[in-house]
Amino acid sequence: MSTTSEYSFFQSVEKSFDKASKYTNWEEGLLEQIKACNSIYSMRFPVKMDDGRIEVIEAYRVQHSQHKSPCKGGIRFSMAVNQDEVMALAALMTYKCAIVNVPFGGGKGGIKINPRTLSAYELEKITRRYTAELVKKNFIGPGIDVPAPDYGTGEREMAWIVDTYQSLKPGEIDAAGCVTGKPVSLGGVRGRKEATGLGVFYGVREVCLMGDVMKKLGLTVGIENKRVIVQGLGNVGYFSAKFFRTHGAKVVAIAEFEGAIYCADGLDEEAVFQHRKTTGSILNFPGATNIEKSSDALEMDCDILIPAALENVIDKNNAPNIKAKIIGEAANGPLTPEADEILSKKGVLVIPDMYLNAGGVTVSYFEWLKNLSHVRYGRLEKRFTENANINIINQMEELTGKKVSATERAVIAHGPDEIDLVHSGLEETMINATREIMDIWNANPSIPDMRTAAYVCAINKVAHSYTELGIFP
Ligand code: GLU
Repeated sequence: MSTTSEYSFFQSVEKSFDKASKYTNWEEGLLEQIKACNSIYSMRFPVKMDDGRIEVIEAYRVQHSQHKSPCKGGIRFSMAVNQDEVMALAALMTYKCAIVNVPFGGGKGGIKINPRTLSAYELEKITRRYTAELVKKNFIGPGIDVPAPDYGTGEREMAWIVDTYQSLKPGEIDAAGCVTGKPVSLGGVRGRKEATGLGVFYGVREVCLMGDVMKKLGLTVGIENKRVIVQGLGNVGYFSAKFFRTHGAKVVAIAEFEGAIYCADGLDEEAVFQHRKTTGSILNFPGATNIEKSSDALEMDCDILIPAALENVIDKNNAPNIKAKIIGEAANGPLTPEADEILSKKGVLVIPDMYLNAGGVTVSYFEWLKNLSHVRYGRLEKRFTENANINIINQMEELTGKKVSATERAVIAHGPDEIDLVHSGLEETMINATREIMDIWNANPSIPDMRTAAYVCAINKVAHSYTELGIFP
């Protein structure tokens, strides 16, 4: 965590909220309730490490809002975890879910460990014990609070969580819905792994298709040939880079802990990933230039900057040097409030985290629905649609006397698989959310930036749920 901001992470979320609430008409008490973290579970538990030592593990689960159930949000494994950070991330989840119309409250969990220095066995013991603690306090369940992957966690950890939960709750028919981001074999959904990166791409692409916005920034419309810099080659950074590249943008630089690399012709994230796997470093990638100080990559010339690692990487010190015209916040909270203000004055368009990285939770929602319905997406309609499409092609060929090619026939006939439905649901969600936020901004030009417009969108939706619940008539 950076120490260059005068605000803690949670305070900076509150600051953005307060800034936005001025553009709404909700009464003070209701705004205070929306802003507050409802439940905070701070725990300590002992784990016997491989060398025989007993280590006391510090961990948290925060439920920011229960205006909709269950609460939803990832669990991160990182040495930077602390209560303030988990509270901030849980709050962002509430607003994120509201913007993309995912009917969950916000939650987040964190365990203060460095997963890179622990063995798989130690990680498994910690994850299972953490889950058991959550069960004991009723802080997990398909209708209560549903964790997911976040920084430092993935499918493997989610598999341990669902297995622990199921063993402690025998016979619970919807138990698979207690966590999302699971492997497909354990009730996961196809498309969850790449969801956040793909959502980042869909969100940025939608903004780049807005002629008026591009004109103001002095950029051409569309994603093709845009120069992109990605910070972080974890799950979110890797897939963001992949979708930008495969849709015609050039990923000119990638940054990681150990340094960054630059190539004006564009980098292939998969090749870079493999290079890092074999050599242990992103540096010395064939055809690319090394940038020894990783953070220097953020200040390089580009059209779109994608910080996809941790919070507070752009602060008041480096914000004045940023050359990107668009910053797509793939990470949660990559800008300090001071940096936000500097960049907004510079005319940089910051596409805010709490909706731009909502792809993960959106597809988690699809996974949860799949778990509750106990059926794979596409199972019922795939063949029916294919047969109907083949009938249409046959009829067209008969009426016109012309034949479509075998490749075209296959494309037109194709009935949706699970992955097709998940990707299209995600695309629809991100496009709608982008337009909704931009509409709010256009309708009120005194709103200073896109983040504030996104918060206005979130506040209005959460406030409506509260008033609909009749708690604040
Ligand atoms: N950790 C992701 C996020 O911050 C995903 C959360 C989820 O799928 O519940 O949005």
